[in-house]
Amino acid sequence: VKVVTSVREMQRLAEAWRRQGRRIGFVPTMGCLHVGHLSLIRIAKQRSDIVVASIFVNPTQFGPKEDFKRYPRDITRDKKLAVGAGCDVLFVPRTQDMYPQGYATYVMVEGLSKGLCGRSRPIHFRGVTTVVAKLFHIVKPHLAVFGQKDAQQAVILQRMARDLNFDTRILVAPIVREKDGLAMSSRNVYLSTGERKQALVLSRALRKAKQMVSKGERKASVIKNTIIQLIRGAKDAVIDYVEVVHPETLEDLTLLGDRALVALAVKFGSTRLIDNTLIKV
Ligand code: AMP
Repeated sequence: VKVVTSVREMQRLAEAWRRQGRRIGFVPTMGCLHVGHLSLIRIAKQRSDIVVASIFVNPTQFGPKEDFKRYPRDITRDKKLAVGAGCDVLFVPRTQDMYPQGYATYVMVEGLSKGLCGRSRPIHFRGVTTVVAKLFHIVKPHLAVFGQKDAQQAVILQRMARDLNFDTRILVAPIVREKDGLAMSSRNVYLSTGERKQALVLSRALRKAKQMVSKGERKASVIKNTIIQLIRGAKDAVIDYVEVVHPETLEDLTLLGDRALVALAVKFGSTRLIDNTLIKV
């Protein structure tokens, strides 16, 4: 795997590939790679000639009291895992090159960035859309793959790509889970043994929601309350939100129509976890 840190060099490479008619697939990450990230790289590989994965812990998407400083970083391990999954180039830009002195430009997707995670993380999605727009200009991908794990992020990025006429197809890949159901996340390493056990309640509650719908339940409030009760059974769980929304508009549902996104964010100690499930009625 080739590691590129220079923005100019990455742009030159991408330009050359495009001239040669090669299709560029792209997987943006914050590193500390796990099987979820690797699944995105494999999907990109199947659909492109060259796969670039980026590793950049993006400061603008972290709030002042969030975990930017302690976010796990392990580039040596990431390199090995990325090659194994078929990654051709790892783009690891330096913070001062992405955000030089005097940096002043931000991309914001209105509306969609307000609810769910946006409520407790008001500047988060502005940081995400800004950095992804920048990365698209640098890597020039034909295809970019994101995970359904960050459901709201995926919806927002698809809207950004459409609204700003990015010539990049966006693909959203399914959530990869540990054997016991916990959604894979770089942040899972923060969990103590006790918290790790308790965190299983999240995927269990989402499975329960799915069951309720398959048995005929259509009231969002009933589904929501059942999830909340289940999660409250875990002693260290502090709920940020549990919502039943439309998968594209992210608007609250009262009654489930043909599709629904059940999404949640819950803190265990200082670790905030998110998970979700898409339900076809
Ligand atoms: P991150 O490094 O957390 O910013 O994630 C980089 C990309 O990997 C995003 O598109 C995430 O949605 C995706 N991702 C993270 N965890 C998972 C997972 N468990 N399954 C599938 N995709 C994931």
